[in-house]
Amino acid sequence: MEKILISACLVGDKVRYDGKSQYNPLIKELLEKYELVPFCPEVEGGLKTPRTPSEIVKDKVINKDGQDVSKQYKEGALLALNICKYLHIEKAILKDASPSCGVNEIHNGKFDGKLIKGKGITTRLLEANGITVYSDSQIEKLL
Ligand code: SF4
Repeated sequence: MEKILISACLVGDKVRYDGKSQYNPLIKELLEKYELVPFCPEVEGGLKTPRTPSEIVKDKVINKDGQDVSKQYKEGALLALNICKYLHIEKAILKDASPSCGVNEIHNGKFDGKLIKGKGITTRLLEANGITVYSDSQIEKLL
């Protein structure tokens, strides 16, 4: 069965910044066709749950308290890529709008709830290394 890396919050893990999950009901159908490998770049990069929300601001990731958390975001992205390489994973499904996992959109860096076109730090690194990244709203393409 083909392996797919997937944002851990989408399979029900409570790893979001607010301590909640983002369970997607299509997971059951995905499991009939693929072996899912859940991964949360922010947690694996060293951030706690719950945590202060962060947004991409120019070339950095800054949390709402003004702290630079770019290092943890880069580390999480690198670990995601390592897992893909180790397990020969060629596809990922990531949760859109996240500063790590965003595929089509991210928050605008002003903490006002508005979204702009853009990609998260992990998505950027995976795509730069040839991995095809789908957003959670594109899961049906894989079924
Ligand atoms: S970093 Fe990705 S996997 Fe982790 S909670 Fe945010 S969207 Fe989900």
